[in-house]
Amino acid sequence: MSRNPRYDILFEPVRIGPVTAPNRFYQAPHALGTGNQMPNTRAAMREVRAEGGWGVVNTGYCSIHPSSDDSPLPYCRLWDDEDIKVHSLMVDAVHRHGALAGVELWHGASGVGNRLTRVTPLSVSGVSSGGSYPGWISLTKSRPMDRQDIRDLRRWHVDAARRARSAGFDIVYVYAGMGYGPYQFLLPWMNHRTDEYGGSLQNRARLMREIIEEVKEAVGQTCGVAVRFSSAELLKVPGETMQTEAHELISMLSDLPDLWDVKASSWTVETASARFSEQGAQEPLVSFVKALTSKPVVGVGRFTSPDEMVSQIKRGILDLIGAARPSIADPFLPNKINEGREDEIRECIGCNICVSSYHDGVPLRCTQNPTMGEEWRRGWHPERIPPGNPEQSILIVGAGPAGLECARALGQRGFAVTLAEAREQLGGRVTIESKLPGLATWARVRDYRTNLIQTMANVDVYRGSPLSAQDVIDFGCDYAVIATGAQWTREIPRTNGYPVSEIEGDAVFTPDDILDGAEPEGPVVIYDFDHYYMGSCLAELLRQRGSEVTIVTPANAISAWTFMNNELAEIRVRMIELGIGTVFEHHVTGFSDGVLQLSSIYRGIDARSIDCGSLLVVGVRNGNDGLYQELNSDADRIADSGLISVRSIGDCRAPGTIAHAVYSGHECARNIDAGDSIPPMAWERATILSEV
Ligand code: ADP
Ligand code: SF4
Repeated sequence: MSRNPRYDILFEPVRIGPVTAPNRFYQAPHALGTGNQMPNTRAAMREVRAEGGWGVVNTGYCSIHPSSDDSPLPYCRLWDDEDIKVHSLMVDAVHRHGALAGVELWHGASGVGNRLTRVTPLSVSGVSSGGSYPGWISLTKSRPMDRQDIRDLRRWHVDAARRARSAGFDIVYVYAGMGYGPYQFLLPWMNHRTDEYGGSLQNRARLMREIIEEVKEAVGQTCGVAVRFSSAELLKVPGETMQTEAHELISMLSDLPDLWDVKASSWTVETASARFSEQGAQEPLVSFVKALTSKPVVGVGRFTSPDEMVSQIKRGILDLIGAARPSIADPFLPNKINEGREDEIRECIGCNICVSSYHDGVPLRCTQNPTMGEEWRRGWHPERIPPGNPEQSILIVGAGPAGLECARALGQRGFAVTLAEAREQLGGRVTIESKLPGLATWARVRDYRTNLIQTMANVDVYRGSPLSAQDVIDFGCDYAVIATGAQWTREIPRTNGYPVSEIEGDAVFTPDDILDGAEPEGPVVIYDFDHYYMGSCLAELLRQRGSEVTIVTPANAISAWTFMNNELAEIRVRMIELGIGTVFEHHVTGFSDGVLQLSSIYRGIDARSIDCGSLLVVGVRNGNDGLYQELNSDADRIADSGLISVRSIGDCRAPGTIAHAVYSGHECARNIDAGDSIPPMAWERATILSEV
């Protein structure tokens, strides 16, 4: 297949100072969860994007000095010459595929806690950024930078830029955004200085200008010097000569950098999930920039549609299409467009599981792309998979995310695959849950897989086919894979937190009941100890239907886990807007005659009761593993049937996120003929560092 001429513009080269990007696909700097400690994993995770056609591939935030230490979060660093070789590994990997490699040099100033290095954090005027937010409190304040500190900060940037050039990077960033480094100097409410670095915007921008000039002087002959600037906050500050200070700043520095990378001012806005933002939502933050500079402009916006990308360029918003999440979900997105295979793009669903893995301190995981993070240690490639034996047949029972991914990957391996689904519709939980408010993109998990499966002659799909154990035996296949999902229960915890007993009653519901169409009588109380999206999504749904809704939770926030995937604040805002009531830090202890008994998680103090027409328990899911257990309970029957193995995958094996289910299905497909239930994988070791 060949490229649609409509998309030719996406494949034009773009000059960035002394270097040229081969096309407009730009993997923007984004955290990876690997740091310097996992150089091989990191190199492979970046390389796969270059291989997939991204013209520029950047690191995540790369600290320039021990006074910028974001521990325990994983960040990479260029603190001294010893750190260079770790980066060369990635640069060489990216260069192998003709892409440019960029490094996001970063100084956190007072946006870091320096928990590891114990250096007192530096700041423009002693004001700690984010210091009032408990999640980031480091219990140490920052100290204002004196003139020597400012000279040092400029020198650290230059030293790190030289090291970056030694590592082979083509693009070097100056980071002036998200509360970090010279960005703090720009903000009037952070910068209270009375010297030449405070006061007028000219003065507040002095440090940013000096760093750009000095980095250009040091490496600008060979490296493009990019500036990453967060525009959102200064777009709200009226300017003296232009409408805002953001406009004034860009026009002041206009052509000084070789590239403007413009984005939001906070991480939660920059990575807003699909539940709370559309593709291209950040356009207002960047659309003013191109008019004020002749240098190329890049921005992000969870772009997965090539038509939207073309529109961004033709409308003069962007020159380069920045992407973090779309490049994680599909490292081969550019190549697929180039080859006229845009219907094969594995579109990001905007769930932010990737964000949560960075917060977990582990290499990024992705709901859509189960190979992300496994490129080096398991040798998994997002597009290629070792062939299997086409003579062998595999029956998969259940076509949710786990069964669909398993069928797709086994089909790609060439096995004779049969996928049987009890319902008429494929997709399992994603088909059902994508109808919840804000979750429509989740159907992409199904659609990507069904699109490919329908082109595979070796995969047969049977809908409306609930299978029994005898059906599986009678089918006469070599391998059986049970992917029958999970169901929500009415189990509630005792006050020690462990769910043990079911709460009885006609007015007690589970999410499955509501998703099946049940209409509970109000007022509805949602007892949420699942802590992810389901409780707040159902609250939204029931409120839309007119019910009075209260969420009771043992946590001190609604959907408390979503602190990890950056949705927490948006969920809270939505719940307030909808008038959802809340009772935090309480368990449900009883329910009868329209009254719900509650007890505080703190040794039972503050017991109370509230009116409740219906109780919706959002807590525990149990795997539908009856079929799997029945098959496995009789080894002789299995042996007689000729089955080599029966495996369970996804929620049936252990209920989890959709990402867990997809991963489980993929892992099974890769290893079904390998024998080991947990195949070996490579581990990064300190000794590897001396070899790179
Ligand atoms: P997962 O997330 O693990 O893929 P889902 O709950 O999304 O799990 O999907 C499980 C699928 O399995 C559902 O579509 C369900 O209809 C199907 N299923 C459950 N039991 C059977 C069965 N006995 N035969 C065929 N399909 C089944
Ligand atoms: Fe997109 Fe979700 Fe994958 Fe992140 S985890 S890249 S948001 S699909």
